[in-house]
Amino acid sequence: MLADPESGVRRPTLTGAELAAAVQGLDAPLAHSQPYSIASENATYEHWLALVHEINKVGAAHNGTVVMHGTDTMEEAAYFVSECLPDAAVAFCGAMRPPGELGYDGGRNLLDAVTVARSPAARELGTVVVMNHEVLPAWDVVKMDSVSLSAFGTRHGTRIATVHERQLRLLSRPLRFNWYGAIPTITPDPDAVAYLRLTGSPGRRRIAAAITGAGGIVVDALGAGTVPAAVRADLIAAASSVPVVLTTRTSSGPVQAEETYPHAWDDLISAGIAFEKRLDGPRARIRLSLALALGREYAPLEPLS
Ligand code: ASP
Repeated sequence: MLADPESGVRRPTLTGAELAAAVQGLDAPLAHSQPYSIASENATYEHWLALVHEINKVGAAHNGTVVMHGTDTMEEAAYFVSECLPDAAVAFCGAMRPPGELGYDGGRNLLDAVTVARSPAARELGTVVVMNHEVLPAWDVVKMDSVSLSAFGTRHGTRIATVHERQLRLLSRPLRFNWYGAIPTITPDPDAVAYLRLTGSPGRRRIAAAITGAGGIVVDALGAGTVPAAVRADLIAAASSVPVVLTTRTSSGPVQAEETYPHAWDDLISAGIAFEKRLDGPRARIRLSLALALGREYAPLEPLS
């Protein structure tokens, strides 16, 4: 995004090809395509589905694909792609500072992402985010800071590799998961899934209004999946007709029944509510939206053995 000299308003202006041309040392043979150019807060399932189709089209003829994406929803875009195309080699990158500003990091991130996408390991890495010299998996990466150059990290501490001076240094083997691995023929409906984040003293009427009529529900529960009594019966009732997924609002860790809190999860389990051990709420929302669009059942994300 560049600032308009008169108004100062920042807009997506430079093309991917222009951004790449400005990076010193970027000597990889690149084929460019520009399916859209938007601020990432305006990205929709329709955009990400278009991205999936584009990657699917160009991916076969190339070692890997680099996606330049705004940072605010990059983790969701990367996750959407990895759900639909688990075997594609895709490196997302972006910039925390815009071109022309002191500390612009976009060129370096792009160079690093190209290094990842060109590497012989690219296919095994799957879809990753490459920011600030780190290679982070799509299922776990999060923007943890709104302004810092080192904004990106992972919820569960999974770091796959680093990149320095065009050298990829692998640190751990990427996990394989039970991805849906399919491209929906219809665009997932962003209104199909109600996504809630629980707090102490929840407003029962507000929550009931949000879940009424939803095709599926994702709830960021408290701690390891505790649900306040005030809203518990409503969620259990909803689970008799639509998929309900519990995630945790904590910044790491799974949803799981705790032995030290006997029976606290029993009614949720018998209602068929799914417990997410890996995904955060925004990603569980994507996974459930995709499941509904694909006509598949929701399955919590689990690593393949
Ligand atoms: N906030 C903008 C976006 O996410 C700019 C950026 O971070 O790249 O698109």
